[in-house]
Amino acid sequence: PYDMLVVGGGPAGSAAAIYAARKGIRTGVVAERFGGQVADTMAIENFISVKATDGPKLVAGLEQHVLDYDVDLMKTQKAVRVEKKDLIEVELENGAVLKSKSVVLATGARWREMNVPGEQEYKTKGVAYCPHCDGPLFKGKKTAVIGGGNSGIEAAIDLAGIVEHVTVLEFGDKLRADDVLVKKAESLPNVTIIKEAMTTEVLGNGEHVTGLQYTDRKTGESHKLDLAGIFVQIGLVPNSEFLQDTLELTDRGEIVIDTHGRTSMDGVFAAGDVTNVPFKQIIISMGAGATAALGAFDYLIRN
Ligand code: FAD
Repeated sequence: PYDMLVVGGGPAGSAAAIYAARKGIRTGVVAERFGGQVADTMAIENFISVKATDGPKLVAGLEQHVLDYDVDLMKTQKAVRVEKKDLIEVELENGAVLKSKSVVLATGARWREMNVPGEQEYKTKGVAYCPHCDGPLFKGKKTAVIGGGNSGIEAAIDLAGIVEHVTVLEFGDKLRADDVLVKKAESLPNVTIIKEAMTTEVLGNGEHVTGLQYTDRKTGESHKLDLAGIFVQIGLVPNSEFLQDTLELTDRGEIVIDTHGRTSMDGVFAAGDVTNVPFKQIIISMGAGATAALGAFDYLIRN
């Protein structure tokens, strides 16, 4: 059996694996797609101490660093079940069952997409999901935020300080964000909020986003906005479906962890975007991965 089995090969899982391997214990990593969300990222400018990099480069760096240690890296393998018996069992989609004394779950999350024409084509060419990451790319330009929940309104307030103008498009007839946020957004001169707006298409010139088309759900009329950027803020979905009824999850499906990365299952720790950590970023996930691995190591030496 493994001493520590890490499920997930993004920043959190990579950090956990390196911290585990450095303790000289038997470490494995199972990753459906090594690199995780980082593999889909273009410019990364907030990975502290590295002024600018991009996703593929950072993923290559993560893999090299992990493989520098004695780690069993099992790529393109998906975990489908976790169960505590004598040891902790992790079943893979191909039927194999891995056993470990401790487990770190770092399966990340995915942004919910609008599923409208143009969205896929213009991803990283104006269609963005992370204002902390990509906001500065739209300095002085017109942008839209799709979604009027907390993350959408926070994004609008954040972007308003950087970009020329922000239009928030909310599908429903009211914003679902907290009152303080709504009041703040409404007070900003360069923020416009449009409710009952259904985005129907992302428009572009073949190279980058030039705008979007939406339907006013009250009148049925179609309108066009000229934009350089579109921030989609309609939810971040944790990759925790396979853990339903296994571990304590929040109502949004995030794994509940404590300060040591412990989950509700003895010997099982978690880190990164799949957890209830409030902020989802590369550097935060790496720190959380380190925490979970040290938490798990502490568990191992006590059990
Ligand atoms: P992830 O990166 O999501 O990795 C999850 C890993 O788990 C993957 O290897 C995945 O294949 C694997 N996995 C999932 N389910 C299973 C399963 N059942 N079995 C086995 N493996 C599984 N953050 C920044 O700090 N700066 C940025 O500039 C930035 N830009 C971004 C741009 C985009 C387009 C996106 C989508 C995100 C961006 N982020 C950025 C956010 C950042 O990528 C995430 O916060 C970070 O990757 C989370 O790390 P993680 O390891 O928790 O999860």
